[in-house]
Amino acid sequence: MTTVNSSGSAAGRVLIVEDERALATMIAAYLSRAGFETSAVHTGGEAVAAVRDQLPDVVILDLGLPGVDGIEVCRQIRTFSDCYVLIATARKGEIDTLIGLSVGADDYIVKPFSARELVARVQTVLRRPRTGKRADDHAGEPALVFGELSVDPAGRQVQLAGAAVPLTPTEREMLIVLAARPALAFTRRQLIDAVWGSEWVGDERMVDVHVANLRKKLGDDPASARYVTTVRGVGYRMGQG
Ligand code: CA
Repeated sequence: MTTVNSSGSAAGRVLIVEDERALATMIAAYLSRAGFETSAVHTGGEAVAAVRDQLPDVVILDLGLPGVDGIEVCRQIRTFSDCYVLIATARKGEIDTLIGLSVGADDYIVKPFSARELVARVQTVLRRPRTGKRADDHAGEPALVFGELSVDPAGRQVQLAGAAVPLTPTEREMLIVLAARPALAFTRRQLIDAVWGSEWVGDERMVDVHVANLRKKLGDDPASARYVTTVRGVGYRMGQG
């Protein structure tokens, strides 16, 4: 394992999982220059251990790894961590497969990517409400209740029938955005602006991935949704379909 710039953590901690060592070094250099604390590992097995040990804010996860592949690494990370996972894939077509697999990644980036694009993506995920000021905007607000589902925007807690629902940061933010304005049908772009930020550029189907995962965790049937309803021709809204 290589650690770069471990002295100061200004912008956030990023774990790079990439078996091409030269590429890992280059990514670490880009991110260090942008003020991130970075470390890199080169196999899937090391990756899971490093997430446990280092508690990174963001994991940049290469999909094609020797041994334990990126998909399995993402699944394992998700069993104990809600850090942001940005999957790097060499083929754009792979994103469709990943969407189908619902592995719990927060975003995808297609290789080859530019330094600027990568830094922008990482900055975007870290600007999101978990650590930003938008969480404070909800201070003192009561929990929003939809049948057995309770969404507490101030405490960032989501409960179903009294039990905490293990959501990723992206899923949680999306649910909070939807729940805060249940009368409104959001377009995918509006959800992206609210959750990822208006600078985010990418495939709007990312929204569908997170909605599908969210519904799975909430036990919601897409055909007759109780919580996250599809509004045909528009996008999604909160409440019974
Ligand atoms: Ca690789």
